[in-house]
Amino acid sequence: MLFLRPTTAFFALALATLSNAHPHHTEQKRDLAGVFYGPDSTETKFLAPSADAIGPAIDPKMGYRMEHLGNGTYFVTEGAYQSIFLVSDAGVIVVDCPPTIGYKLQAAIKSVTDQPVTHFVYSHAHADHIGGAYIFNKTVTHYIAQVETLLNLEGLPTLDPARPIPNIVFKEEHKVCVGNQTLELSYKGVNHEPGNIFIYAPAPKTLMLVDVVFPGWAPFAELAQSDYIPGWIEAHDQILAYDFVTYIGGHLNRYGTAQDVQTQKEYVSDLFNFCSDAINGGFNLTEALGPTAMDSPGNSWATFKHYLKAAADLCTENTNKKWLGKLAGLDAFGWENSYKMIESLRIDYGVLGASAVQNPSM
Ligand SMILES: [Zn+2]
Repeated sequence: MLFLRPTTAFFALALATLSNAHPHHTEQKRDLAGVFYGPDSTETKFLAPSADAIGPAIDPKMGYRMEHLGNGTYFVTEGAYQSIFLVSDAGVIVVDCPPTIGYKLQAAIKSVTDQPVTHFVYSHAHADHIGGAYIFNKTVTHYIAQVETLLNLEGLPTLDPARPIPNIVFKEEHKVCVGNQTLELSYKGVNHEPGNIFIYAPAPKTLMLVDVVFPGWAPFAELAQSDYIPGWIEAHDQILAYDFVTYIGGHLNRYGTAQDVQTQKEYVSDLFNFCSDAINGGFNLTEALGPTAMDSPGNSWATFKHYLKAAADLCTENTNKKWLGKLAGLDAFGWENSYKMIESLRIDYGVLGASAVQNPSM
């Protein structure tokens, strides 16, 4: 685990101010729209997402929605997760089967073709996206993944029978050709997790990259629980370099366009800048850390916890001023995204503020 050791000066600054420490702030913080945010919040009322963010209705009898994207490529969602499949004249290619879609994906495929599913592509190793892969193991001859996904699955203490070990792996580029269908797979480095790949169907110009962009919504908590934030941020430009009309992000109800990718790129850029400003002297260390340092002498983690909280609070406040109401769910996970960005700025980008090397002459 990476954890930057705070400098002595950092805590000395907090401890030196005990005499004028401010009283505890016990009230909940509210943003400009009066919505609570923060991990301690017990508020149950959040902002209503726009109709655009929610997308088309799902027939409750079916339990899923299927849409033909063109050239035999189909999109399937149950409202929270997404997968795609391509029908060829020699078998069906499936990309991901989230457990929440499960057998509904099989029903969707059977509703448009009698061809068996012969090829199964893993977007990445996470169980919430591929934990239904085993459903197709009677007919699938090729389970295909980037090599890091193989290593992730093989490295588990106990192999997961829901996620069969891939028997076709590649490092950088791979073309899946089945009958009259082609799917282009590309690995560009670690983003959401090692092995997370770009999946491109050239005929309908459909691009799938899971757990990076959330069309119409703020990213899921902690920037989609991503392993490497610099790679995750870079992925926005890597997506935009493709010639695509449909972007499949793997989550929520609707798919997206290049405009959705551009919008999230701008949000992430603002988050980056507001969090950098917060670390670089954006708030008063004495006010933020004094009470904790006084009440919890010797507990370095306690003081640092409140340092990170103060930075994330400020970043959230500034981000909300610009983005609240524009991205659904920002009031739910905006603070967690700020927190993750603060940590990445510190340990990945080296934006350290008060934890940086201090000039001894000062
Ligand atoms: Zn994931």
